[in-house]
Amino acid sequence: MRQRNKPWADDFLKEHQHFIIPNPTEHKGKWKALFKNDKPIHIEVGTGKGQFIVGMAKQYPDINFIGIEVAKSIIVTAAQKVLDSIPEHDNILLLNENANDLREMFDENEVAGIYLNFSDPWPKNRHEKRRLTYKTFLEQYQKILDPSGQVIFKTDNRGLFEYSLVSLTDYGMKLEEVNLDLHAIDDPTNVMTEYEERFSAKGQPIYRLKASF
Ligand code: SAM
Repeated sequence: MRQRNKPWADDFLKEHQHFIIPNPTEHKGKWKALFKNDKPIHIEVGTGKGQFIVGMAKQYPDINFIGIEVAKSIIVTAAQKVLDSIPEHDNILLLNENANDLREMFDENEVAGIYLNFSDPWPKNRHEKRRLTYKTFLEQYQKILDPSGQVIFKTDNRGLFEYSLVSLTDYGMKLEEVNLDLHAIDDPTNVMTEYEERFSAKGQPIYRLKASF
């Protein structure tokens, strides 16, 4: 995703610490207390500009959502969407973090759903370990995900999708949905991401899988 330098981003993040949470490791095991309720927590890794997580938070008020995005200049756009669309922002939090080890931020079984949307494909073989569906990431997801929860992955990238099917299966995950053309079905539960809108407008099929451990 294209990043523009936004010199005001640091101040913006500081001003909105009530929902863009600094030092998330301090909240490990205590996220429900921060939301002040017992609702399930779903996370998105690589939230980008926030269309998906904000749309989900609006559509599912009984779920708490946490969006994780490493790029400061991008997460501020997501934060602005939160302010514009969910002024109370009571079921959504954002983390400006690298999700390289989610176990530092979340306790065992603390999360009830994990979304990976249009993750960077890292097509070169030597970059396999960076793909968010590589086995070391699956190990992390398994630790923090409640056994009844799912990993839900959408992409336009056929290579990454095929790789992920193999990686998840080799890991022993159970595939509960494999959809090779998501927009060919009418799925009212599907909330589109920015990338999804862009690629589907070009006529590219969108792939989705749902899997559990
Ligand atoms: N999910 C959005 C969508 O579908 O429109 C954005 C997709 S974009 C290709 C991938 C995003 O993931 C980028 O904004 C990137 O900065 C973020 N990202 C990549 N690796 C990450 C990591 N390890 N932790 C947090 N965010 C990450």
